[in-house]
Amino acid sequence: MKRMPWLGCVFACASALAQAPDLVLVNGRIATLDAKASVAEALAIRGERIVAVGSFAKVKPLIAKSTRVIDLHGRTVIPGLIDSHMHAIRAALSFSTEVNWIGTRSIAEALARLRDAAKVRKPNDWLIVAGGWTPEQFAEKRAPTQAELAEAGGDHPVYIQLFYRWAMLNPKGFEQLGVKEDKDVPPAGKLERDASGTLSGGIGGNTPTITGLFARLPKPTFDEQVAGTKAFLKELNRLGLTGVIDPGGFGMAPPDYQALFRIWKDGDLSLRVAYTIFAQGRGKELEDYKNLTQLLPMGFGDEWLRFNGIGENVAWGVYNNDNPSEPARQQFYDICKWAASQRLSLNIHWHNDSSVGLVLDTFERVNQAHSIKDLRWTLVHLEDASEATLKRMKALGIGWALQDAGYFEGEQQLKEKGAEAMKRIPRINSALYLGVHLGAGTDAHRVMTYNPWVALRWMLDGKTVGGTAWRVPEETPTRVNALRMYTQGSAWFAFAEKERGSLEVGKLADLAVLSKDYFEVPVEEIGEIEAVMTVVAGKIVYEKP
Ligand SMILES: [Zn+2]
Repeated sequence: MKRMPWLGCVFACASALAQAPDLVLVNGRIATLDAKASVAEALAIRGERIVAVGSFAKVKPLIAKSTRVIDLHGRTVIPGLIDSHMHAIRAALSFSTEVNWIGTRSIAEALARLRDAAKVRKPNDWLIVAGGWTPEQFAEKRAPTQAELAEAGGDHPVYIQLFYRWAMLNPKGFEQLGVKEDKDVPPAGKLERDASGTLSGGIGGNTPTITGLFARLPKPTFDEQVAGTKAFLKELNRLGLTGVIDPGGFGMAPPDYQALFRIWKDGDLSLRVAYTIFAQGRGKELEDYKNLTQLLPMGFGDEWLRFNGIGENVAWGVYNNDNPSEPARQQFYDICKWAASQRLSLNIHWHNDSSVGLVLDTFERVNQAHSIKDLRWTLVHLEDASEATLKRMKALGIGWALQDAGYFEGEQQLKEKGAEAMKRIPRINSALYLGVHLGAGTDAHRVMTYNPWVALRWMLDGKTVGGTAWRVPEETPTRVNALRMYTQGSAWFAFAEKERGSLEVGKLADLAVLSKDYFEVPVEEIGEIEAVMTVVAGKIVYEKP
């Protein structure tokens, strides 16, 4: 039979083409964060996954005509960052209709953002700054005055919110909401007055008061929510984030997830989201969870969007409550026991180590009925966790989702906890040493900025936005460990550490090329890092213009 040499080539070339990487990054400093923390020169991606990583010599033979090759010019590449606790879905809904003050350094700069928004918004549209700032970040070390807001806002009603304890409106804002006296801002609003007794525009209050006030502002339309969500996820990509674990939040009900679901259905997500259900109706939390999860088994979804259990508010009676009533504790136990029986993951927001024993007692009791060891239950916040608490967490397999709350609130924590305690708030290295699963994050955006680089800097130098630090070097992680917390550490909370969080063959190609070398720059420059390119599932989702 006559040989047909060309046939061999057709098969070999076709299969080489099918095997060829779509994207290859060369000439970089690629921090793989594999077990040895190896640094590679080149990385190849086919489809959604990494197919090679190592020296240029190793990757070069894979490059075909169809491969896009990007020269990194020595830039640093890291696995995509994952925030283990960000109220991203909520923040995203209003991202296209709110003004944010994140990163502003003076009142003038903050007011300029209001002025810019006033120019492009329709007359009478609200200008809303819904948290994510503190007077400490301004050179003036104060909040703006009502006169300043009124001037910057022009004809628009203006609302600004500081954490969950204070808000300020311009006169037009007061008029539109019909607020004239304290009783117009239930349940605990106090209209502030100056020395002469004139209303100053500020409203003090607790969390229900401020969230209640916020709820009276007009909601974005569905199209605005979709646009806001896309824009917010891109904004996170700009900072090198490729995933979040989302705990819902105040006011987050099923309709508030529809914009995100629409984008997911359209295949347009640029960031991976694992979400949990926040307690809905007070007193009927368990009934709600049962109803909402009947057709939503734990882990349902795909690598882009996944259902991840319940929390951060598991039950209203123990939410932000150091001393819940006996019936509230029983109800909390019943919910936890049910969640364990359903193999659901659960995360709970808790502030103080002094009272966390009641949560751990409950978890230990539940664990005797149904093992929770593999369910990846999580304590969120708990900045002052003690060694004893960490040991109990380790024994139960409970993770710790830790945020940089101290960056904004360090001065406040100092007043509450004292200088001695601040030396070990939080015990990052102790937790790592004990083997507690640790994820990093921000708790953005009502309270904190979503910028992961600000959080990483804070993990490394402990400095508040005002520039003060108390934490001792013994509890300061290495740069590699801090980054591990923000990548594979956080991935663990979404049951995804085998899929992402490091740059290894077979893993999803989620990575960020950085503007500066995180490993080499002085620590004070880490907060200014951003991505020059971000890749999720092998696709470039952000490129710096
Ligand atoms: Zn939170």
